[in-house]
Amino acid sequence: MNILVVNCGSSSLKFQLINAETEDCIAKGLCERIGIEGSMISYTPAGGEKEKTVTPMNDHTEAIRLVLEALTNEKTGVVKSLDEIGAVGHRIVHGGEKFAEATIITDEVLKAIEECNELAPLHNPANLIGINACKKLMPNTPMVAVFDTAFHQTMPEEAYLYGLPYDYYRNYKIRRYGFHGTSHAYVSKRASEVLGEKYEDLKIIVCHLGNGASISAVKNGKCVDTTMGLTPLEGLIMGTRSGDIDPAIIEFIAHKENKSIDEIMNVLNKKSGVLGLSDNLSSDFRDIEDGYFAGQENAVRAMNVFVYRVIKYIGAYIAAMNGVDAICFTAGVGENGPLVRTLVCKNLEYMGITLDEELNQKRGLDLVITTPESKTKVLVIPTNEELMIAKQTAQLVK
Ligand code: ADP
Repeated sequence: MNILVVNCGSSSLKFQLINAETEDCIAKGLCERIGIEGSMISYTPAGGEKEKTVTPMNDHTEAIRLVLEALTNEKTGVVKSLDEIGAVGHRIVHGGEKFAEATIITDEVLKAIEECNELAPLHNPANLIGINACKKLMPNTPMVAVFDTAFHQTMPEEAYLYGLPYDYYRNYKIRRYGFHGTSHAYVSKRASEVLGEKYEDLKIIVCHLGNGASISAVKNGKCVDTTMGLTPLEGLIMGTRSGDIDPAIIEFIAHKENKSIDEIMNVLNKKSGVLGLSDNLSSDFRDIEDGYFAGQENAVRAMNVFVYRVIKYIGAYIAAMNGVDAICFTAGVGENGPLVRTLVCKNLEYMGITLDEELNQKRGLDLVITTPESKTKVLVIPTNEELMIAKQTAQLVK
């Protein structure tokens, strides 16, 4: 069954058409600047050339229409008609406590997703717009919602509660939710396959290190803790996000710089992380890496603080699970940055970890990068959230 996977942002829409049985990506692309001047669709059929077309898209319905036209185009399309698309899988950022699994989208589900809007005001409304646009153009095609938060719903109370008055949880559902769940689920499962062990028997730590970054602890196939919280701001130092800070800093800066809460939140989300630590050198880890190798003080500082936080959380999760069998690296930095992996693993010798530096330099494969003697295994597993969404969608629709 061919599944159209849709990841809808406020002004962008990423899509992939995936054959859920063969796991092949048949075509993929991106609509950008939806509702803004200069909107553009890029489309790449498998094995074909990428084509970019600047064309007006007033809203997401028009964007989806263009996507469907591209997929069925006589010359460059990959399917003859929309009948060859069995279902649509939507990436939804926040499912709150309501969704611990992917689900077929009904009117009731749509309402429940809407109720999570206040937990993810930047993302969920855009995700809903994507669902409604697809429903309009493909009224008879089943739709499935796959949530970024779902995999983390197995966290026990002691991991998801904050040390706040319990009424905040009771009344407003303020708790830790975690994100990147589809990636953490995919990578941890894949790691067990690569190791040839039963998923249910393993203790796995997944380091999803991209622009946004999070770590999760997966014990016996279930997530028991993760670094992101109520929002994606908590936990690791990221491209532009601060990660964990003392909350009293917010009050301190408000007084010092006469800033509003909104302005400070903007700093924490967009101007902090390695960007802020490097004195605005870059939020892109490639630039930070280049600066690190060149011995630039600001880049070395940003890299060291980033790496130290990763090491600390790995240590915390080894404690949380009472041990670890495998540590996985994934996403932009985790998959492509041998330096980060080397720096992190240097501090894990106490776990009997020794990297094979030659394997650590390889790219694009599911790979064990520790030596055979290494007691704990370290793996690089390229994440594939779209495939995971396609597989879950196909499974529910069948
Ligand atoms: P997101 O999905 O959160 O935007 P990605 O998983 O795409 O993030 O990761 C983006 C990050 O990965 C960027 O900071 C980028 O610099 C980094 N990255 C990509 N390639 C490399 C590389 N070869 N070496 C180091 N970092 C890389």
